[in-house]
Amino acid sequence: MNVKELIEKKKLGEALNENEINFIINGCTNRTIPDYQLSALLMAIYFQGMSKNEVSNLTQSMATSGDIKSFPFLTDKVIDKHSTGGVGDKVSLIVAPLVASLGIPIIKMSGRGLGHTGGTLDKLESIEGFKTELSDQELLSSIKKCNLAIIGQSENIAPADKRIYEVRDVTGTVDSLPLIASSIMSKKIALGADGIVIDVKVGNGAFMQSVNEARELSKIMIEIGKNLGKEVVCLITSMNQPLGKEIGNINEVQESVNFLKGDFTSNNLRDVVIEVSIQMAKLSNLYRNVDTSEIKKLLYKNINEGKAFEKFSQMVSCQGGSMVNLFKTERPCKYIVKSEGNGYIDAIDTRKLGYLALELGAGRKSIGDAIDHNAGITMNIGLGDKIREGDVLFKAYTNKPYSSHLEDEMKKVINIRPERRTQYDEAIIDIIKL
Ligand code: URA
Repeated sequence: MNVKELIEKKKLGEALNENEINFIINGCTNRTIPDYQLSALLMAIYFQGMSKNEVSNLTQSMATSGDIKSFPFLTDKVIDKHSTGGVGDKVSLIVAPLVASLGIPIIKMSGRGLGHTGGTLDKLESIEGFKTELSDQELLSSIKKCNLAIIGQSENIAPADKRIYEVRDVTGTVDSLPLIASSIMSKKIALGADGIVIDVKVGNGAFMQSVNEARELSKIMIEIGKNLGKEVVCLITSMNQPLGKEIGNINEVQESVNFLKGDFTSNNLRDVVIEVSIQMAKLSNLYRNVDTSEIKKLLYKNINEGKAFEKFSQMVSCQGGSMVNLFKTERPCKYIVKSEGNGYIDAIDTRKLGYLALELGAGRKSIGDAIDHNAGITMNIGLGDKIREGDVLFKAYTNKPYSSHLEDEMKKVINIRPERRTQYDEAIIDIIKL
């Protein structure tokens, strides 16, 4: 077998069999397949797609490219959550400690920024000292101490996804249903999740542009879970505007901390956090038979009584971080974008905002690029808001020199309309279960 033949085969739209997929994943993991051949293969998959069988084999092969973890000492199921990727999507930073504060074990494997979307690991690493790569011993100790850990892929957990993810990020091969499904599900399997909630984003800031596509991806992931005895619930949620007000890294952590302390900056973030948390709780043994309204009350109670924030603090210290300087950072504001007319916010080019944040330094253009954790964007407005000429729409922060080209691009992000529409997107569009 050789890689060139397999690239040709996929290029012509033929299905790869289990042995061929295992051969590719081995070559990815031990790096015998160079980046240029991996890129070509990913592009062929992007254009030709994969059958159900291929996606299932790919997922299994990626999951077993490292260890498969299990935590038999835990008293409840392990519940995990993942997002298909969004802009300002800090939901994982909030729901992981929030749901863990209900007594449910959360062991979450997250990713880095992908394409125009941000990544939980990059955000967490803006906390001084926070380690996203833990040794087996450190992972066990974190889980035992605080019932919660958020980590990234490593040499021994889903290493194939780590490699493929990095190459997809910089080769325009992110928005492919089989590659997204296998990437997400392989991580969940590797870390031993029993119940998984997937936040499938749809809209102009998401990889899925239509609700039908989002439903199709949901079905693929639910099916993979079913074949492996894992319960998967997919929420389809809107990404036609950023989630919350902050886009970047440290500023998203700050917004998450404020949320966990009861300061809800925007309704869309609150609605997604609460629904994802409810669905996660419903997958556990502890809350399976508890009414949704009761779970909701408990979530707000834990926020109001400080338990959710306490859980986040515990996680930070278990993973070597310190929040002493979290709110003390100097963030140079280089751009203030103001409204040039009166009316209502009618459309936000969310993908463009994601790319602008990346240009400001909050994401990567090439594998291995360093991230400026202080770079990013703070939104002042959301869809449907009333606006007057001169009002600030958003501010952008960066350590890079001012660019008039970037400022011109920023002016194209927001569309204003004289009359308010009767309805704008609901945050939660659908919930799909088996
Ligand atoms: N999150 C992942 O882990 N992988 C993807 O492909 C998209 C979002």
